[in-house]
Amino acid sequence: MAIDVHDRMTFSTGRDALWCRGCGHADVFTVLCRALVASGVRPTDVVVVTGVGCSSLITFQLRSYAIHGVHGRALPLALGVKAANPDLHVVVAGGDGDAFSIGANHLIHTARKNPRLTYLIMDNQSYGMTRGQPSPTNIHGTPHALNALGILLAAGATFVAQAASWRPYEAEALIGQALSHPGFSVVNLLSPCPTFHHGEGIDGAIGIPLVREIGSEHDVGDRLQALSIAFADGVPYVGLLYRVERPMYALTEGSALVHEQRKEPAILEAMLDEHRVVWT
Ligand code: SF4
Ligand code: MG
Repeated sequence: MAIDVHDRMTFSTGRDALWCRGCGHADVFTVLCRALVASGVRPTDVVVVTGVGCSSLITFQLRSYAIHGVHGRALPLALGVKAANPDLHVVVAGGDGDAFSIGANHLIHTARKNPRLTYLIMDNQSYGMTRGQPSPTNIHGTPHALNALGILLAAGATFVAQAASWRPYEAEALIGQALSHPGFSVVNLLSPCPTFHHGEGIDGAIGIPLVREIGSEHDVGDRLQALSIAFADGVPYVGLLYRVERPMYALTEGSALVHEQRKEPAILEAMLDEHRVVWT
């Protein structure tokens, strides 16, 4: 399928958006569409994998292959897709609850293994789909909020960035860089839920949440510097915190094996037989 590089919404199904008016996730969807077109991939080469929640509605809006999975389990599903066909561009999308609560264990170990996946976390500090309960990243009234960027850096993600849904050009550029990163790339997208967030973190004068940009003096290869940005008090930073290259998870090796198995289904059958459980 040829893609029309002049149509920045080639990846949109054109359906009416399922999100509430003003939801940051709708802006993330638009930005992702634009970044995918700019990256030169075709909709037929892209698989988007999500968990469950408002952010996961993106599977219904995107014109690509998609798996709307189960809560917190998007990353293992995505790894399976990538292992089966390493030529696919696999984008994982989900919310802060999905990433840092029920899916936190998968997130930590995926970051550690460094497979070639891009993970977009739409962080609104709440569970929007179930009426706005605070999620683990909620800093309002919860003294022990998880530091999303700190966790990603500590776990070993090789590309960590933060963007804001209301700053689309910057978000598009960061997602574009993430898509081309050879390893596990994560963009944490601050994405307000106007329906259930009643103004927390919103600057009353201009009506949008405040952020500050990471300075050009920051060394993106320095993890300690990146951690100091992640844990800085006050208004959150946006920009690229960390980017390094290190060996990717043995998907290359494993995928080669999978390809061989595709050619020889009998090999796969034999391997499955070895692990067969027989109920008596
Ligand atoms: Fe977006 Fe909040 Fe509405 Fe969910 S409830 S669609 S997060 S505005
Ligand atoms: Mg959320």
